[in-house]
Amino acid sequence: MVFMPLKCPLFSDTKGRKIETVIIDAGHGGKDPGAIGISGVNEKNIVLPICLKVRDYLAKEYTDMNLILTRDTDEFIELKIRGQRANSEGGNLFISIHANAKKNEENDKSGFEIYLPALERLDESAAIMMKENINLGLQDKGDSISPGGEKVMISLAQNSYLRSADRFSGIIERELVKTSKLQSRGVMQAGFWVLVGASMPCVLVETGYLSNKTDEEYLKSEIGQDEIAKALYKSIRYFKMDYDFENGKSY
Ligand SMILES: [Zn+2]
Repeated sequence: MVFMPLKCPLFSDTKGRKIETVIIDAGHGGKDPGAIGISGVNEKNIVLPICLKVRDYLAKEYTDMNLILTRDTDEFIELKIRGQRANSEGGNLFISIHANAKKNEENDKSGFEIYLPALERLDESAAIMMKENINLGLQDKGDSISPGGEKVMISLAQNSYLRSADRFSGIIERELVKTSKLQSRGVMQAGFWVLVGASMPCVLVETGYLSNKTDEEYLKSEIGQDEIAKALYKSIRYFKMDYDFENGKSY
């Protein structure tokens, strides 16, 4: 479902809404290899099996959950298409999975990072959503509202998504520390395009540094990929429990 500008989730839409559709986004793919590891491994080939495992763990636990992978093969998909697809599939939660590499001039780095959409990008995000809604003919034709009003409503919705994403990030950090062998580098904010276009709580996980020998070995290994996937699956489960309970409440 694409966010309807006239119904602000802060006040009405999130009530009764549960996490039923999860979008799992494997970074890069096809002609875009992503980061290259020290042994030559491509990020796109590390993140795909992790995403497939997350999907499989969730499918086992929730037979009625709608699980959407933005790609399930080695395929190139533009970033904006990923966000749009998440919206059109009616996603309630978006998790993008990546692996990192340090810049040449940087010292060795290791560990995972979790990113939320940046606050300063919310205006841009509101503009993108407004354009999408207009393109899809989804603006409410019955009421008249100024474009500025719509923007405020959408920004409020984005704030609510951001708060949820922040909570989700905290859970991911805790679970990755508990279940995987990776160190946390913290939760940060950044204006990743893929996070800006989706109208739902969005989080991007940089699972580790392919430029670091220990991280790369772990990320390449079956056990490493499985532990990361298990941690992410558990995070989605805990977040869903919390979110569904909150949104099922009647005030
Ligand atoms: Zn990436």
